[in-house]
Amino acid sequence: MTQKELITRGEAVRQALAQVDGPVPVKEFVQQVLTFRPSKAKNPAASIRNYLRAEEVGRTLVYLDRQTIIPLRVAMKGVRFRAHVTRQMASRGILPVHPTFRCFLRYKIALEDVRLFDVAGNPLPVRVVKMKAKPTDPLEVFLRMALEDLEDFVVLAFDLSGWFRANKVRRDDSILVTILDWEAGHFRLEHEPARRRRRRQQEIERKNQELADLLFEMLESAQKESLYASQAVPTAYARLSDPKGYPGDHWTEVIERDPRMKWDGFAIHYSEYMSPLEQILYGEKEVTEGPITRAQARQIYRFKAELWHRADIWRRIEIQGGQTLADFDGILRDAFEHDPFDHLSGFWKLVRRGRGNRFREIDLGDIDPLGGGSGAGLHIAGLELRPGDLLKYVYDFGDWIEHRITLEEIVEPEPGGEYPRIIARNKPRYRYCQSCQAKGRKRIATWICIECSNKQGREVLVCDECLAAEHEGHFVEEILY
Ligand SMILES: [Zn+2]
Ligand SMILES: [Zn+2]
Repeated sequence: MTQKELITRGEAVRQALAQVDGPVPVKEFVQQVLTFRPSKAKNPAASIRNYLRAEEVGRTLVYLDRQTIIPLRVAMKGVRFRAHVTRQMASRGILPVHPTFRCFLRYKIALEDVRLFDVAGNPLPVRVVKMKAKPTDPLEVFLRMALEDLEDFVVLAFDLSGWFRANKVRRDDSILVTILDWEAGHFRLEHEPARRRRRRQQEIERKNQELADLLFEMLESAQKESLYASQAVPTAYARLSDPKGYPGDHWTEVIERDPRMKWDGFAIHYSEYMSPLEQILYGEKEVTEGPITRAQARQIYRFKAELWHRADIWRRIEIQGGQTLADFDGILRDAFEHDPFDHLSGFWKLVRRGRGNRFREIDLGDIDPLGGGSGAGLHIAGLELRPGDLLKYVYDFGDWIEHRITLEEIVEPEPGGEYPRIIARNKPRYRYCQSCQAKGRKRIATWICIECSNKQGREVLVCDECLAAEHEGHFVEEILY
């Protein structure tokens, strides 16, 4: 065994990164890693790529795009960000480590190693203190009460009381932080009075929007419906047009104010996300609807509903804005010949993610055909659908029969029209009863005998009469045209 085979992948990556001082094609970088650590894997390049994505993003490097990486050491040098001074920070002269430095500190760096400098380049004494903090998140309050831990809730902070006094740092001022050396953990602090900030409000808003859009775009293209902040935030900063210029607001505040996203302390989610614990504490989030005008309640929503896995089976349905998902469920059961009194059903709103063909599903609730269900009372007009929008409808949570529903148009009602109604359906492609065919008769098959089909290795199709005569007690399924 040679020396080269003994180092870990992580060490090989670090050695390769040390030789890079700017953006580098992933392909080239992977080859470099492999020269430090040759591999006998079937596809060594792919294995290194996977490792980089899973273990190194946000820790040592980020992706500028799919084909290009940059060491964080390089990308973060000179980056500037803002800490908003709260009343507690001003009165005690402290700068909390989290969330101020969250995602800007190197992975596993020791706080004692962090160095802070003033604008003149003079080192500031770094003293880490504990700061009492009241948890604001109700979930956190609940957890701490459960653990009887409410008293000891502290966060770590840098005690900068001398610097705060000398600079007359007040509540609502900003501290502008510049990353001098990301690897070593060296930062420069600059005081900005609130009035100076106010003059640059528009510029700040623009920066905030750019950061929010970058993060949201990453969320939209993420495989799962969430992003680790530790990976996403450094990546977004590396992709900003001017990360070393005048800073916008802190990323945690930017996300907090963005209606599309939320942050749970670790990951960035879509705003409607609820953690499993929140679901237990608060129950499933009920979908609420806005007020509906009389005009909206009158309007007709024209939908095309099709079987998810057999789009050739479709019905066009009209329903009035003031009618409910329970009404919609009723007509859908009728249209697709589902049992009107048995089995629950449910609706989801499908929201397109990014520009591709992936959707996230917003649960609108379920419908009990005998009355009730969490979604039963929602009005069609309250769902805020626009032509082209999609719903998913599932009949029977056991058999899980999925339907895809597209809103085609919103039109005015016909005088005297009764809604909901089925206005069109696919042209049926009838199949015929094989027993009757054998006897020289032509009758539409309405059933498929699963039992006989399995036995005979072909589809056995029968009409009502032949079913009763020849397949008594067999397991059969109705044919939908
Ligand atoms: Zn027959
Ligand atoms: Zn049979």
